[in-house]
Amino acid sequence: YLPLKNKHVLVTAAGQGIGRASAIAFARAGATVVATDINTEALATLDGEAGITTRQLDVLKDDAVKAVVGETGPFDVLFNCAGVVHGGTIMDMADKDLDFALDLNVRAMIRTIRAVLPAMLEKGDGSIINMASVASSIKGVPNRFAYTVTKAAVIGLTKSVAADYVTQGIRCNAICPGTVESPSLQDRMRAQGDYDAARAAFIARQPMGRLGTPEEIADLAVYIAGATYTSGQAFAIDGGWTI
Ligand code: NAD
Repeated sequence: YLPLKNKHVLVTAAGQGIGRASAIAFARAGATVVATDINTEALATLDGEAGITTRQLDVLKDDAVKAVVGETGPFDVLFNCAGVVHGGTIMDMADKDLDFALDLNVRAMIRTIRAVLPAMLEKGDGSIINMASVASSIKGVPNRFAYTVTKAAVIGLTKSVAADYVTQGIRCNAICPGTVESPSLQDRMRAQGDYDAARAAFIARQPMGRLGTPEEIADLAVYIAGATYTSGQAFAIDGGWTI
């Protein structure tokens, strides 16, 4: 069963972590995938994967987004996965960090959606998936001020796009993971000094007693990409964190 047969999918931040696992899962579900990332070395790890072509793309650059979509589209599915985590409270946060988080976590999604939406509207069909987090309007998490602000904005922009285009065949949903094993999570655990203690603390906040895997999130992305009767939703996938 290939739920995404004949679907053409654009993924951002597909070089590692959830984006990479999703690009592979979309392709295995029958889609043709354009996997993009700012990091070409990371993208090269997808070389030879059936159904996937890779393109370097910095989602902070509007012209680059337009060029890649123009050259490799039109798309049936867009998965906006790029995002960055800053630690700290409202008092710790540097304004430049908030500006950067807003640009990468929120504005980048606006850039890619604006680039793919006209062709989706022409076709009368399209599925847009935005990577949020349960650390957002769903749940306050200590020391994640800029992150939580921007991921809440992702849910808002998701609902807004969903509301505007629901009668025109466009679905727009958000994925809200808990804590997922990924290269950047590894970096953050190492950066805390005591890796084992940091890892134990991340696991402790997940009631299922373990971190999620990128493949588990990718399965949800495949489901949403092909789902035809849901829009404007924030799908939590969080090891029971928000039970
Ligand atoms: P990651 O953070 O390990 O990798 C992020 C990828 O984004 C990298 O390949 C990087 O090169 C790419 N990237 C960075 N800047 C870019 C830019 N300007 N243009 C294009 N690509 C760029 O991956 P992850 O931890 O799986 O996170 C992916 C998404 O999932 C993020 O939006 C993150 O906020 C979200 N998320 C992650 C977790 C988690 O616990 N890992 C939890 C909830 C949400």
